[in-house]
Amino acid sequence: MSKRVAILTSGGDAPGMNACLRAAIIKCQCAGYELVGYKHGYNGLLDQDFVSLVSETTHNLIQQGGTLLHSARCKSFKTDEGAIKAAHNLQKAKIDTLIVIGGDGSFRGASHLSQFWDGQIIGIPGTIDNDIAGTDATIGYYTAIDTAMNSIDKVRDTADAFERIFLVEVMGRHAGFLALNAAISAAADYVIVPEFFSSEQDEINNIVKQIKARRAKQGAVSFIIVVAENVWPDGLHGLTNQLVKNGIDDVRPVTLGHVQRGGSPVSQDRLLATSLGEFAISLVGSTHNNVMVGEVNQKPVIVPLETTWNSTKPLNEAQVNTMQALMNGRYS
Ligand code: ADP
Repeated sequence: MSKRVAILTSGGDAPGMNACLRAAIIKCQCAGYELVGYKHGYNGLLDQDFVSLVSETTHNLIQQGGTLLHSARCKSFKTDEGAIKAAHNLQKAKIDTLIVIGGDGSFRGASHLSQFWDGQIIGIPGTIDNDIAGTDATIGYYTAIDTAMNSIDKVRDTADAFERIFLVEVMGRHAGFLALNAAISAAADYVIVPEFFSSEQDEINNIVKQIKARRAKQGAVSFIIVVAENVWPDGLHGLTNQLVKNGIDDVRPVTLGHVQRGGSPVSQDRLLATSLGEFAISLVGSTHNNVMVGEVNQKPVIVPLETTWNSTKPLNEAQVNTMQALMNGRYS
């Protein structure tokens, strides 16, 4: 049966969102569904601002970062009035299924919308933070690890040249996935993630001990500390000051910032985005509603939307052990 499907990208943008749109567009065409794209996240729903997505749109799309539909945050969508207006617009546009590519905030928004709209809602996880329970990875995460890793490699060059201490802040919102993976893959000397943050004093003691032990063995050396955003109470400058107070000088803070959201998606993100885009459209018209599609152990899964924010997703234990073993093994 013919269906009218709508799709949007919302919240923090992530490399691979376009690859996901491409897969959804092609799959809809194969299935004989009409597909429209709402622009600027939930703002498009409130403004009835949508475009028709046809297969001509997909040429050269898979490798592009960003999102052709644009993304945004939308305060007014959080209110009942906003959600009711969106529901009314979806009815008016005769939409059967709404696909939301975004993070847990976007999924909360979709769930709120479902109180006022009886169409089908399917979420696809798209965020560089990987902080969504119910799926092993999220679209954009792998590219962001690469971007952070490449940036840390460059920081290392200058750190080595001057034998300096560098603090590198990476994104992650309140999760340490990106920080941990970037730290391991760039062979950072130390990592601070929210999941294992004990206290400022403990971390400072540990860092100072390790830098001093290394200096005692090798003389002046560089030392790279990866710090997840939002962990250190006063941010990188607070950490810099505390290190200086504890006798560690020549410390340079670097915040990688929004470069981590950009770039052409790496193959793992293209693969994940393509699989999830195709899989989401295959569920159109089924009984699955208010769900997110994801991948666990390389198999597609369908999980209730609320799982994505109600459960905590732990860091990969093996990776945590690896990082800890390498940190402790070198300096103890
Ligand atoms: P992400 O999807 O990347 O986590 P945000 O948390 O910024 O990004 O959420 C994106 C949008 O989703 C918000 O601008 C808002 O419109 C909507 N949203 C977020 N949280 C809620 C909520 N609790 N209730 C309703 N809508 C929400």
